[in-house]
Amino acid sequence: MTGRVTLVGGGPGPVELLTLAAVRALADADVVLFDRLAPHDELAELAPHAELVDVGKRPGHHVVGQEGIEALMVRRALEGAHVVRLKGGDPYVFGRGGEEVLACAAAGVPVRVIPGVTSAIAVPGSVGIPVTHREVSRMVTVVSGHAPLSETELEHLAGLGSTIVILMGVSNLPSITAGLARHGLGADTPTAVIERGFAAEQRTVVTTLGAAFWDASAAGVGSPAVIVIGEVVRLADQGVATARAVLDDAASVPG
Ligand code: SAH
Repeated sequence: MTGRVTLVGGGPGPVELLTLAAVRALADADVVLFDRLAPHDELAELAPHAELVDVGKRPGHHVVGQEGIEALMVRRALEGAHVVRLKGGDPYVFGRGGEEVLACAAAGVPVRVIPGVTSAIAVPGSVGIPVTHREVSRMVTVVSGHAPLSETELEHLAGLGSTIVILMGVSNLPSITAGLARHGLGADTPTAVIERGFAAEQRTVVTTLGAAFWDASAAGVGSPAVIVIGEVVRLADQGVATARAVLDDAASVPG
């Protein structure tokens, strides 16, 4: 009898940020295929009956390629297993979840997707940066910095007035910040780089668009990190006084 696949969003790291549905799926799994960024320290307890397979990918070191992961997932399900594909954050935010759903559908394997807490919102939140804030920012744009942005994308992004959240952006930080500045985003726009959110080694660099590359380089910031650009950064863990100042400034902006 054909088994099934459950794509599980594992959240940004801590086991506490798994959903109840994720915990239940893991408890029922026969096989768990997990990523580097998915919470995996406690998998032996969470998925006590499952074979645990690390398909983690490090930039430049593909342990098992995407096609290999899909083939393995489908094969084990066709053999009758309940396969849990545990991913970091939410499966549909730069997580290739859509491709994996399509691979299952093409093979006639039933598949279900359990959403996860995305690092795009939770990692800034963990250092006191709300990605939206009344009267400061009413938009948030989540961008992949994996490949360089085009001039058109940079132009539109710079003109949008949105909080900009960049994932996978550490290596392209200089081209992204310079590109946004070239298209008119102020060099003094508050910017934060949060490395290893929720981990003991978490580090946050609070800087400006103009200085972000130098400050992040000086601090030796590496991947994984979430980059946040926008006035909301000024609200970071500073308490009510700063929040008030940010709101006052926002209110005084003409138009
Ligand atoms: N699906 C995931 C994102 C996958 S892309 C999600 O919804 O969160 C991988 C990128 O996510 C990393 O390069 C980094 O930018 C970000 N990321 C994921 N977990 C993170 C964490 N704990 N701390 C900082 N950045 C993280």
